[in-house]
Amino acid sequence: MSTRQRERKAEIMAQVEKLVEDALERGEQRLTITEIEEIALTTRNQVAQVLTGQLVEQQADRSGVQAPRCPDCGQAMRHKGKKRRYVRTRSGETQMERAYYHCAACRRGSFPPG
Ligand SMILES: [Zn+2]
Repeated sequence: MSTRQRERKAEIMAQVEKLVEDALERGEQRLTITEIEEIALTTRNQVAQVLTGQLVEQQADRSGVQAPRCPDCGQAMRHKGKKRRYVRTRSGETQMERAYYHCAACRRGSFPPG
């Protein structure tokens, strides 16, 4: 595991720990099986959201490694910095910074897929 991966894992674990702590805190009350289910499913969704956010960011880091080719002319596109975007996924909405690229020849910009 790289240093960045370790850092990312620590961030994920801290957030997941907090979610588990919150669930256990709620478990101090008397709960019906339906309420227990509700807590478990909500927590599962939140864990998925944490993981999705981190995986999306990880991809954004990767895309900075190599400039993508313009889909129209095939030339290497230029990195134009990062833009914040909202992305809807099956495990919820997440905010991410996407690398933005521009092709000078075609005057088109794009966010590389990922
Ligand atoms: Zn182009």
